Amino acid sequence: MTTIYDLAVVGAGPAGRSLAHRALAARLRVAVVDPAPDRIWSATYGVYTADLPDWFDDSAVAASAPTVTVFTPTERVIPHGYAIVDTAVFQRTLGIDGADVRVCFALAVTASTVTCSDGRQVRATHVVDARGARSVDHQSGPRQTAAGSVVPSDDASMVLMDWRPAGRTPPDTARSFSYRVALGGGRRLVEETCLAGNPPIAVDALAERSRARNGRPLVDDGLDEAVDFPLVARTTPWRRVADEPLRFGAAGGLMNPATGYSVGQSLQATDVVVEAIVAGRDPHAALWPRRARLAYRLRVLGLTVLLSLDSDDVVAFFDAFFRIDPKLQHRYLCGRDDAVGVLRAMAAVFPRLPMRLRRRAVAAAASGQPSAPVTDPTL
Ligand SMILES: Cc1cc2nc3c(=O)[nH]c(=O)nc-3n(C[C@H](O)[C@H](O)[C@H](O)COP(=O)(O)OP(=O)(O)OC[C@H]3O[C@@H](n4cnc5c(N)ncnc54)[C@H](O)[C@@H]3O)c2cc1C
Repeated sequence: MTTIYDLAVVGAGPAGRSLAHRALAARLRVAVVDPAPDRIWSATYGVYTADLPDWFDDSAVAASAPTVTVFTPTERVIPHGYAIVDTAVFQRTLGIDGADVRVCFALAVTASTVTCSDGRQVRATHVVDARGARSVDHQSGPRQTAAGSVVPSDDASMVLMDWRPAGRTPPDTARSFSYRVALGGGRRLVEETCLAGNPPIAVDALAERSRARNGRPLVDDGLDEAVDFPLVARTTPWRRVADEPLRFGAAGGLMNPATGYSVGQSLQATDVVVEAIVAGRDPHAALWPRRARLAYRLRVLGLTVLLSLDSDDVVAFFDAFFRIDPKLQHRYLCGRDDAVGVLRAMAAVFPRLPMRLRRRAVAAAASGQPSAPVTDPTL
């Protein structure tokens, strides 16, 4: 007789694995489909500590600091707790031992079935698609790119954004910033980042800038991290199409379109989905209440404004952002469904912008979406 699982999770990245882990803790019958469920994730994940849910196992933190530093170009130390996750430990703490793990690709995914590359099918009351940003990939929208190297260093600071120019960047060139964070164990990630570009700055060009900024020896051994992913989902994340699965994680609009962060949001949203399933409620509706949809739309608007700015104006924009109350900054950066917080942060930034930037922001906001993915009129 075919088992019908309570939940089938497709994709065992941070989002899918957390969801399966928490569903098992809630005694649901769970199946997981992933071609390499035990592969250690290669990305370096950073999270705001306030985003970590109660159930997060602190042993998975490789390094943390109670503050972050930004240069816009003025130096500011801001009280946002920030942690870098030890991916191997993180993965281990998200145990999925009680799940039926299918080591294969999902070829077709519907609301109740997963057709696997081994020819078998998984059936479940709820199917969740957590196949990551690549599964929603599209070449036309805004993307985040970065080029990073791991270097020996005991510096424990977390520099989230250093907008001071990298070497001799010619004027009017798209700007990138340096992200430099402690990894623990006397190591540090030094990453030149294009937060959002349409098109973005190429990874090779960012590596060259990193060399110019930090000195050649730092990256002579090649890149440890090459980042390139889309910032907005191809379709409206909350749109329900008949017989489609619930999308989750970077595949499901849980990435902040204005920053590219998704791990914290996914961890926070995990129990929302599990609790809805356990209570017999619709997990889709639980994940996307009106305030979450509005928060997402507002952040896409923030991205639209950002993409409209000239290179120097981008730095002025972040300077204004980091001058507002840190609590409001946090509400803009995190808080998946905190539409009020996002709005209040935007309203606080606006009067701090130089006048020409205010005009730009209004014009960009009026012009529409950066890649027009959010088209659902039902908001
Ligand atoms: C290098 C890098 C660094 C990043 N750093 C950060 C950061 O510091 N903080 C942050 O919040 N975000 C960061 N991000 C963005 C984002 O959080 C990550 O992309 C994160 O991995 C998304 O998690 P996810 O579980 O949604 O998807 P993924 O991690 O992409 O996992 C998707 C899973 O689906 C599986 N899969 C794919 N196709 C199939 C298929 N057909 N069938 C079955 N399984 C399939 C894959 O094997 C994989 O296990 C980073 C991204 C990159 C690329």
